[in-house]
Amino acid sequence: MEERYTRQEAVIGKENQKKLSQSRVAIIGLGATGSVTAEMLTRAGIGNLLLVDRDGVDLSNLQRQTLYTELDIGREKALAARERLKQINSKINITALAVGLDAGNIDSVLGGKFELILECTDNLETRFLINEFCRKNKIPAVFCGVAGMKGFVLPVEREFCFNCVFMHAKEALTCSGEGILGATVHLAASLQVKEGIDILLKNKESKLILFDLEKEELEKVKVKKNPACLVCQDQFYCLEEKEKKKSSYVIKKCKTRAAFSVRFNKKIDLSKIKKRYKVLLETPLLLVVEKEGAEMIVHQYGEVIFKKAKDYNQIEKLAEEIYSAG
Ligand SMILES: [Zn+2]
Repeated sequence: MEERYTRQEAVIGKENQKKLSQSRVAIIGLGATGSVTAEMLTRAGIGNLLLVDRDGVDLSNLQRQTLYTELDIGREKALAARERLKQINSKINITALAVGLDAGNIDSVLGGKFELILECTDNLETRFLINEFCRKNKIPAVFCGVAGMKGFVLPVEREFCFNCVFMHAKEALTCSGEGILGATVHLAASLQVKEGIDILLKNKESKLILFDLEKEELEKVKVKKNPACLVCQDQFYCLEEKEKKKSSYVIKKCKTRAAFSVRFNKKIDLSKIKKRYKVLLETPLLLVVEKEGAEMIVHQYGEVIFKKAKDYNQIEKLAEEIYSAG
């Protein structure tokens, strides 16, 4: 093994260093945490890295996104990151993709190739998508979010998933609204890399890590499977959206994840709906109706919000029914 890793080998052992050199890790998002995480993994000698980010570098990124310099402004982050990482460690394989991850491309971008996925995006929607992909394909992941001086890191293997913990979250921790300190990013990235390497070397423990730099607090919360989590029952709404988009309507989970939205490709005639369902509330623009325990807010402009639905099959069945009725 190279002299490069002697200090690290003194901590994790030569055999484990060899394991890292054969590992395949994907990093989704190369903004704040992603760029720090990618640099640490490159220096640590992870053998194969995939970098995915569709954004370009701008001036406001340089305060915390340590891979980039003023010369990179306007370049795609994935490509600029790859170039810099190759200068740091030319011995590892790095693939860069300047694309945004979605339900339509996630299989071809990540399918069958990785032992670990590190989620470094700043939006909840992509986190839920990655979570479903990882659950479906049995790939461990480490999720991470930062804002202001706070952050979380959640390593996920089989016993629970991201949705178990965050299904009621309304928005992701993101740095754009609230601002962010470089120190917050580095702490989150350090914890994410530590948890990721633990997973690769099979030293794991189930927990959610929450930290607050302002209060100088770090908390470990025990996590277990949430019986209400549909992803853990192998129902993959975000992944299946690509199929749904082809038909006459699109089913989407609402931001709170407790409700679902069905968007039709036409307006709905509320007078026809009124005749067929039990009406709980009526306004000129919407109806709240009920059937089989499911509560539906039917908007005239062509959207139905499902609350208290039993499962995905019930939503589909009722959506079809409303589509043909109205
Ligand atoms: Zn779950």
